Amino acid sequence: MVALRGSGPLRLGGSLDVSVAGAESNVAIGLARLGHRVRWAGAVGDDEAGELVLRTLRAEGVDVTGSSRDSSAPTGLLLFEPRLPQVTRVHYYRSGSAGSRVDSAAVTAAFTDGAGAPPRLLHLTGITPALGPAPLAAARQALELAREHGVQVCLDVNFRSRLWNEADAAAVLRDWMPYVDVLIASDDELPLCLSVSRDGASAAGKDPAEMHADQLLSQGVREVVVKLGAAGATAYTAEGSVHRPARSVEAVDPVGAGDAFVAGYVSALLDGAGVTGRLERAVTTGAFAVASHGDWEGAPTRSELALLGAESGTVVR
Ligand code: ATP
Repeated sequence: MVALRGSGPLRLGGSLDVSVAGAESNVAIGLARLGHRVRWAGAVGDDEAGELVLRTLRAEGVDVTGSSRDSSAPTGLLLFEPRLPQVTRVHYYRSGSAGSRVDSAAVTAAFTDGAGAPPRLLHLTGITPALGPAPLAAARQALELAREHGVQVCLDVNFRSRLWNEADAAAVLRDWMPYVDVLIASDDELPLCLSVSRDGASAAGKDPAEMHADQLLSQGVREVVVKLGAAGATAYTAEGSVHRPARSVEAVDPVGAGDAFVAGYVSALLDGAGVTGRLERAVTTGAFAVASHGDWEGAPTRSELALLGAESGTVVR
């Protein structure tokens, strides 16, 4: 989508910064900055806004040759309205957009590269299936292709209550779980993925996130990674759980932290790092996002990862 960022209450008018946003494109850019080869499958309108999206992704080193242009629908749009220092409102103009009509054919075309090679990892979010029947089928097709080619799947739940309700989300997400290797979610999103929701956690004196993660692991998910905002993140695997606190930064813009976190986690996973190393990179890239304005603009390159530990006032010459 094209993102327009205001500087105060939207109803007062004023100027807007023009950029690009979207959970999957944020992750794609985050991974490309870290040096990975990334292909983004999506749809934009056959319009200047779509050109901006594709041009930005290309400039960031993301392969967009598998994306499509829809001549009958516009590129999606969102408006960011910083309403209070701690509250940003996001207004979406996505209904009927090209992205909300992306279909299975687009996914099939994008899944392999020019030489027919599948990716090492497929990343999806729970936003795509909420956009409508065509994107739901497209995401499902991606999962089937991943299974067919032995590609591991990472899913960030990203539940959006403005797009669908919990019952509809749960019906899709539960159906998807057998395809998912790495599940990334906030703690309150985990029950949406459980085939049988059991709420006896507090009664049993157990941490609900831990209990839900255990159930997901027993359903076949390989890793359950729980994002905890300023409290960091915890990863659950068959070997147990690992927690990493958030990196200490001055938070200037929380939007995009989750996507940046995913990019860091997947990057370290592709590098062959263990769970601790994956979480470490994820909390680092998440911290870069909250310490920078914009969804993806502050995403670090590999050599910049170490900057976060620098003392206040450090000047790098
Ligand atoms: P969003 O949907 O806004 O992108 P999210 O809910 O998906 O966010 P969060 O849990 O808010 O994701 O943040 C993801 C990660 O980013 C956290 O696990 C943490 O590592 C990092 N993070 C978030 N907030 C802060 C903060 N204030 N300071 C440092 N790191 C943070």
